[in-house]
Formats: sequence, structure tokens, C-alpha cells
Amino acid sequence: MGLRKLMTVLALLLSAFLVLGFISESNASTLQNPITQNEKHIHENNWSENLRDRNWQTYLSPEIKQILTLDDQNSATHNPHAGLHNSGVTPMVNTENGVALWGNCRTINISTLIDSSLVEKDEMFNVIDGVAEVVSAYTGLTMSHENGYTSTQVDSSNLPTPEAGSILIIWVPKNSESLSSQQLGTTKVWHTVENDGTPTITRARILLSEKIFEEYNSGIIGRGNNIETAVMHEMTHAMGVGHSSHENSFMYTELTNNTLATVADIASLVFAGSRSC
Ligand SMILES: [Zn+2]
Repeated sequence: MGLRKLMTVLALLLSAFLVLGFISESNASTLQNPITQNEKHIHENNWSENLRDRNWQTYLSPEIKQILTLDDQNSATHNPHAGLHNSGVTPMVNTENGVALWGNCRTINISTLIDSSLVEKDEMFNVIDGVAEVVSAYTGLTMSHENGYTSTQVDSSNLPTPEAGSILIIWVPKNSESLSSQQLGTTKVWHTVENDGTPTITRARILLSEKIFEEYNSGIIGRGNNIETAVMHEMTHAMGVGHSSHENSFMYTELTNNTLATVADIASLVFAGSRSC
């Protein structure tokens, strides 16, 4: 518990200081995870507007406001969607009626399944717990992580579907057929289109490979190529945020020891929590 709190505090502190601009080295570990969802990207890599956005749930620091173009007194120049686009961040699912995001009036339930063959179950559960807390803090979305995990034999040919309003996280063995040999994790997001056209995320499923524990050590969430940052990457996908074009971003397709939670990454999470129901 103490460690979890400490990680949260460190991650929040770091977000105030991290900036882009470190030179990336080539000792990347692969975090390949093609984005999948139940519908096609309609306007891939754009952030279109929805009138329910901008119901901000968290404090907007001057740096976040700058990314979201909210730092000017003149509201006519405010365009957070363009700001995110210009900072290299992409959405998971975009439609002509805005990007698919969770509505911020309900608790998102997170549950964890761990394949019964895996040995570090407590550690796998705890890292989810810590990451969920950080993602909740950045987005302002309310999340509830179950108090324990379920140990089960995961059938890769028949993966369970998350319940409505929930994120299902499944730790699978390194040889699981549900991930390619290169993949450390993957995230699938389901969304519904409401009567006014708003695309709302209804459920998400994250698959995490045991290889994350083999290839990485424990570290600070959002800083460097470690277990916590790999899980944070997938959890951020589950929030509706896609990959970043910045090599140092933890939402880049590969993590390195120069990986950071950039201001743009934090801004994308702040934005992801701003969709009113
Ligand atoms: Zn990814």
C-alpha cells in the first residue's frame, strides 16, 4: 500500500517536470500493439469535436492549458482538439461526432484476470492497482479496482468480453496465442454511438503478456521502459488515447529508457476525462 501511494505521488510530481527533448537511444524494447476496436477508424489520427467535451475534471496547469490551446484569454482561439493533434497525440477511435471517450459521470470498474499458470500474480495485480490510481488522477475519471484478482485458465481462442462499463485486464502467458510473438500487450476498446451521435466507450479489454515481467524491471510509472510504464501505455489506450508520434512519449509504439509521460501525454489523459454524460 505504501509503495503504491509513493508511486502515485512520484508520477504526479514527475508530470510537472517532464518535458520533451531528450535524445532517444536505440535500445528499444518492443511494445507493438496494433490498435483494434469494433469499428473502423473513420478519421484516423484526428481529434474531432463533441459538444460534451471540456467538462474538465482535473486542474489544468499552465503547461496543459498551453497544449490544449486554452492559455489564451480569447476563447475563440481555443481548440483543444487541434492542440492535441499538433502535439502528436492520436485518438483510438475518431468519428465525425468526436472521439470515443468514457463519460465522466460513472465509475469505471476494473477487474483483473490472471492465467493460473503465472507465478507473480500478486505483483501483476498490484501494478494494475497503482497504474489505475494514476490514470484516475490524471483523467479525473472515477475507477474502482476490485480488491483481488481472479486466477483462471485463459482460453486464447475464446477471450472473455468485459462487462458494460468496465475494463477487463488479462495477464496471459508468454506463449499465449492471443498475442503475437512481438507483442507485450494489446488493448481493445468498444464504443457505442448515442442518439446525438456521441461515441462513448462502453468497455475495454487489455491483454498483458507475462513477457512484460520478463523483459522489464519495476520502475516509476511513465518514466523509462519498465513494467509500470508498459501497463500505463495499455491503460491509456483503454481511455481512448492512441499512439504518439513522439519517440519519448510513453504512448510511442516502443519504450526506451528515455520514455517519459510528456506534457502532451498528460494533456491527452486530461482531455480523455472531460466527456460529460
Ligand atoms: Zn500501443
